[in-house]
Amino acid sequence: MLAPPWIPIPPPGYGGIELVVGALCEGLVRLGHSVTLFAAPGSRSSATVREVLPRCHPYEIGHSLYEIDHVARVLADIDDMADQGNPFDILHDHCGFTAVALADRIRIPVVHTLHGPFTVDTSAFYRHYADQAWLVAISEAQRATAPPGLRLSGVVPNPIEVSDWPFRPTKEDYVLWVGRFEHFKGAHRAIAAAREANVRLLLAGPIQPGQEAYFQREIAPHLDGNQVRYLGEVGGGRKQQLFANARAFLMPISWIEPFGMVMVEAMACGTPVIAFPQGAATEIVQPGLNGFLVDDEETMAAAIANVGQIDPAACRESVDVRFNPEVVAAGYEAIYRRVTTSRPATGVAG
Ligand code: UDP
Repeated sequence: MLAPPWIPIPPPGYGGIELVVGALCEGLVRLGHSVTLFAAPGSRSSATVREVLPRCHPYEIGHSLYEIDHVARVLADIDDMADQGNPFDILHDHCGFTAVALADRIRIPVVHTLHGPFTVDTSAFYRHYADQAWLVAISEAQRATAPPGLRLSGVVPNPIEVSDWPFRPTKEDYVLWVGRFEHFKGAHRAIAAAREANVRLLLAGPIQPGQEAYFQREIAPHLDGNQVRYLGEVGGGRKQQLFANARAFLMPISWIEPFGMVMVEAMACGTPVIAFPQGAATEIVQPGLNGFLVDDEETMAAAIANVGQIDPAACRESVDVRFNPEVVAAGYEAIYRRVTTSRPATGVAG
C-alpha cells in the first residue's frame, strides 16, 4: 500500500487520503492479507509500516520533489524485497501521479485509486498511462466524469471505521463546516446559509498554501466570534466532538466531489448532512434518512430548520455497513484477484 509522503497515518488533523489508506489497511489485515504500508514517517498501522523518507511534509503537499523521492525509494524497496525472496503481489497506490507514470518500471501490477477529480490535465494523464495501471474510482459520480474510452477496473467507496467516531443523539445549537478553504468547498456559502437560518456556524480546516486570499476575502470579514467562528485546523477528540455535537453538517460544494470523507464522518456521529447535489454527495446523502440535498443557500437554511426530522441513529446506520473497512477491503480484494490473474482491464478503448 503506497500512501502519500505528506501526512502520517492515521492523520493527526487534515488528511482524507491518509484516513482512507489507514482504514483500508486495517480492513485488509482483518481479511487475512499480508499488507506492507509505505507511508510518511510517524505512521501506525496493523499493516507492516515502512517509512522511506526522513520526515513528513504536511506543508508541502503536492511538491513533486518529495513525491518522486518517496515513490522512487518505495519502488527500489519493492525490487530489493523481491530480490531477497519476499516479493509483493500488487502495489496499491494512493500517492499522486508518480507511481502510475512509473508503473512499467516495476515487475508487479499497480492498482491506483483515483482520489482526485478528472480535469482536462488529469484526464489526459490517465489516458496516456491507462494501459500500465489498474484505475479504481471512489464514487459513481467520479467514474461518470472519466474521459471517453478510459476503462476503469471498478468503483470502490472510501472506508470509515464508524466505531472510532462518537455517536451523539442529542445535539448542540450550531451547524458545522469542515474542509479546505477552496472556493469549491463552499465555506462562504455555508456562512450565507447559516446567516439566513440565524444559527451559529463553526468553520474548521487548514488554510493551505494558495488559499489565503480566498479566506481573507470571503471568510475573514464574516467572523464575529459569535455567530460565525473559525476554529483553525482541528483533529483528534476535539474534531470528533465537533462533528458529534453539531445539529447538521453543511456541504455547499460546487464541484464534482470525488467522495467527501467529512460527510460520512458526520453521519457516523449521527449528524445529518445538508449538501448541494454535486458529485458523490448524491450517492452518500440519502434525503430524509441521513440528511438533505438542497439547491442553494436559501433551501439550505430551510433544511437546517428541518434537521430534527432526521433520526441520528439512522444516520449512523446509513454508513456503518456500507463503508465498513472490511466491506471496502473485500471490494478491493475482488479487483486484486482480477489483477493477479489477467492483463490490465484498463487502457483506452479503441
Ligand atoms: N480534516 C481534519 N481537520 C480539519 C479539516 C479536515 O481532520 O481541520 C479531515 C476531515 O475530517 C476529513 C479530511 O480531513 O477526514 C478531508 O477529507 P475530505 O474527503 O472531506 O476532503 P478533501 O480535502 O480530501 O477533498
